[in-house]
Amino acid sequence: MEERKIILKTGWNFNNSYANLPELFFERQSLTHVDSPKLIILNDHLTAYLGLNVQALQSSDGVAVLAGNQMPKGALPLSQAYAGHQFGHFTMLGDGRALLLGEQITPKDERVDIQLKGSGRTPYSRGGDGRATLGSMLREYIISEAMYALGIPTTRSLAVVTTGEPVFRETKLPGAVLTRVAASHLRVGTFQYAAEWGTVEELRALADYALKRHFSDGDGAENRYLCLLQEVIKRQAALIAKWQLVGFIHGVMNTDNVSISGETIDYGPCAFMDNYDPATVFSSIDRQGRYAYGNQPYIAGWNLARFAETLLPLLHDNKEKATQLAENAIAEFTQLYHSNWLSGMRTKLGIFNEEPEDEILIENLLNMMQKYDADYTNTFRALTFDKFSDMTLFDTESFTIWHKKWQERLYRQEESKDCSIELMKSSNPEIIPRNHRVEEALYAAEKNGDYSVMKKLLDVLSNPYAHSNEQAGYTALPEKSTCPYRTFCGT
Ligand code: AMP
Ligand code: MG
Repeated sequence: MEERKIILKTGWNFNNSYANLPELFFERQSLTHVDSPKLIILNDHLTAYLGLNVQALQSSDGVAVLAGNQMPKGALPLSQAYAGHQFGHFTMLGDGRALLLGEQITPKDERVDIQLKGSGRTPYSRGGDGRATLGSMLREYIISEAMYALGIPTTRSLAVVTTGEPVFRETKLPGAVLTRVAASHLRVGTFQYAAEWGTVEELRALADYALKRHFSDGDGAENRYLCLLQEVIKRQAALIAKWQLVGFIHGVMNTDNVSISGETIDYGPCAFMDNYDPATVFSSIDRQGRYAYGNQPYIAGWNLARFAETLLPLLHDNKEKATQLAENAIAEFTQLYHSNWLSGMRTKLGIFNEEPEDEILIENLLNMMQKYDADYTNTFRALTFDKFSDMTLFDTESFTIWHKKWQERLYRQEESKDCSIELMKSSNPEIIPRNHRVEEALYAAEKNGDYSVMKKLLDVLSNPYAHSNEQAGYTALPEKSTCPYRTFCGT
């Protein structure tokens, strides 16, 4: 009996540092009960990292926690306040359908937020029902875990449970709760909220908290708040470059969806690009293409400028000097982004050293890909394995000329061809969560209660650089369709 108890200890190890911030930043919450929670998927690897016990989480008590029906020991549920620019318009937001249970201190002594998404109404819900649909939560689970496996900083998904309650969208859909794990949920929008509605001291408390939680307290920096700004800029530059390099389109890069920790957050209308085209947009509400693939680096710069504005009172007592410091920091972003992107592109082409002409070589390839409607991921896969079939691009004279130049470039470096191939294999994924494959998995899950398609997909996505035979079956493109793929927000 005693032993059984030990085995079933879940391992929650909460601390609640966010709740020590001024009250302006959150509302304490009680749990909203749901009818009949059922565990749909649990992330075994993440469970281990968090120091949690799989069997305990699978038990009825464990599932009750994941559904928001039961409070785990040490949790202090709250919803966080934040604001944000949504498609350029500033507005008050906050966790309208999420609950921060607390921060789990992992066995490696790391601190991560445990948040329930779809957990019910909060004071920030506005007109919303506080709920989420099974399809959209599974979609976030699949894509966030795929991003993690691709080596891209991201929030992660611990579990999805269904609530047994319907959610009303255009039709009646099953409701679900996702357990999201994040380095933190501090957003540019949290700072905008503080700057707009808080005192300078409340803003300072938030900045100090962010510095302590993510940036070693700004140790050694002459101006800690400038250090905060510079570090956030650096992380966003690295993050957005990684998105571009795999063809990820976030879809709703509002300032409330920009994480201070530098993780990808809020998987709403996101999707991966098939054929290379900078104008690619999937989101049904992004009619102007504000968040198109090719625009993402510019929008990131715009969002960071909004972040810099919030810090002005902390950067310097003199307003002009503060503005100058902020402008100088923001001016760095473009260059930082570009050098991250360029070095990433070099690795995708198996290039180890730097030559000034590299950028032209890369641009020429991208231009050809656009001209001949070439699939982004599969082009780099073909270059990696020297297998050129199935694409118009490869039959063109311009590609033949480009290929020769690329080969000459590789011969000019010290590293062998084999080293180049290895570098390309680890830089060019065999598989990305292609839209039609994600839809196929969600359809089986939602319509037929069949989760095997999704589990198989998650399995092949979990090691995208393995280049296994099993994965090769997932590289096929969707049938040409007359209506473009569309994604939807906040469902
Ligand atoms: P998002 O588009 O997911 O970044 O969400 C934007 C804002 O809308 C956030 O404040 C969310 O909490 C809120 N929101 C999204 N869906 C709902 C919902 N079903 N009920 C209440 N609030 C929601
Ligand atoms: Mg959001």
